[in-house]
Amino acid sequence: MTSDQLNFNDTETAFAHKSNRELVHDFEIYRLINQGWLVRMGTRTASRMIKWGIKAPIVLGMRSTVYDVFCGGETLSLATKKINQLYAYEVQSILDYGVEGKETEEDFERTTNAITQAIFFAKNYDAVDIVSSKFTGLIPFAILEKLHGGEELSQEEKEIYGHSKERIYGLAKLASDHNVSLFVDAEESWIQQPLDDLTFDLMLKYNKEKPIIYNTIQLYRKDRLEFFKRTVEQAKKAGIIYAVKLVRGAYMEKEKKRAEKMNYPNPIQNSKTDTDRDYNEALKFAIDNIEHVAICVATHNEESTMLATQLMHEKKLPTNHDHIHFSQLLGMSDNITFNLAKAGYHASKYMPYGPVKDVIPYLIRRAQENTSVAGQMGRELKLLKEEIRRRRLFVL
Ligand SMILES: Cc1cc2nc3c(=O)[nH]c(=O)nc-3n(C[C@H](O)[C@H](O)[C@H](O)COP(=O)(O)OP(=O)(O)OC[C@H]3O[C@@H](n4cnc5c(N)ncnc54)[C@H](O)[C@@H]3O)c2cc1C
Repeated sequence: MTSDQLNFNDTETAFAHKSNRELVHDFEIYRLINQGWLVRMGTRTASRMIKWGIKAPIVLGMRSTVYDVFCGGETLSLATKKINQLYAYEVQSILDYGVEGKETEEDFERTTNAITQAIFFAKNYDAVDIVSSKFTGLIPFAILEKLHGGEELSQEEKEIYGHSKERIYGLAKLASDHNVSLFVDAEESWIQQPLDDLTFDLMLKYNKEKPIIYNTIQLYRKDRLEFFKRTVEQAKKAGIIYAVKLVRGAYMEKEKKRAEKMNYPNPIQNSKTDTDRDYNEALKFAIDNIEHVAICVATHNEESTMLATQLMHEKKLPTNHDHIHFSQLLGMSDNITFNLAKAGYHASKYMPYGPVKDVIPYLIRRAQENTSVAGQMGRELKLLKEEIRRRRLFVL
């Protein structure tokens, strides 16, 4: 199938994996999230209650609603049902231990164990080839911030950092030994430099023949397209595959606020059009250099996704090229993921999992982003409504 035969409006393919009950359930949840005031009020209340240590009612409220739509399950074995449900339609899962905002050594140890388990899980399971990680779940944020700013670490910090690095290098080796790819998420711009350095160093070790370690590039940053091009040149010289997840970026408001507060130029592009231009340019650059680059096209943007497939087609690359992969977050843009998979592309869902109480920050971000991203929510609702009509469920 060529890119001009891809149809992101095909709701029958998009939702074939959902039963009638699941479809209606998701529709109701999206209808709720679409109420901006409700999300604002709900997330404010939830954040306050978490601060006060009152988690039980939030957990209860979220478990059968947003958690159910956006997360795989509380444990890997509980997530298996969803993983299989997706894989029945050739959609793989990227395992993302969704616990965020942790800072103690015990937390880092727990996250390391969770990622280790996920790698072992993936090794035995065709439905999972990739495990995702956030380095802030493995290294203290304050240390990353100092390293980014070129500040000297204290003796104690050096020891903690050394320990964190040991964990990360251990995970990367394990992933490589078992032929599982390890994604490293991009986070705030003021900690990104050490993440870039660490991932490049790991790529020097493990990406000689195939893409194992993936960095992430946020094209909503003004300087990242240039960074991408520069780093690919370095990778070429070193004889490795530069593997990268291309995203627009999730921390726009936070970046703007910090830049204003600390009086430095906002690193984020001046407009959405500028972000889109650089994102699409990055896709083109990657596909032009696909021998040396591996990408995960991580977006819900239909134009960018279609562009990537067109560029592949122009270069006569097979739809299932080993270096090109598409991914959307679980609960979002099934119309893109499932239609790509049906057309033979590598398509996957980013699947967060973990205890409900620990995934709450992720869920709050999801709800907020879905109300703030212009058009995204309306589109999800419209597609679900169309499929409900097509199945003649008459619940509207
Ligand atoms: C599989 C997957 C993995 C991801 N991993 C990461 C990650 O590691 N790190 C991370 O930060 N994010 C990550 N994201 C989230 C991603 O960065 C985006 O926030 C999200 O996908 C929305 O962008 P889009 O390309 O899907 O859609 P679109 O709706 O086309 O774009 C929305 C995005 O455009 C940008 N934007 C919006 N308005 C403006 C403006 N006025 N000026 C400049 N830019 C603007 C913002 O980045 C916004 O999120 C991931 C997303 C996916 C699907």
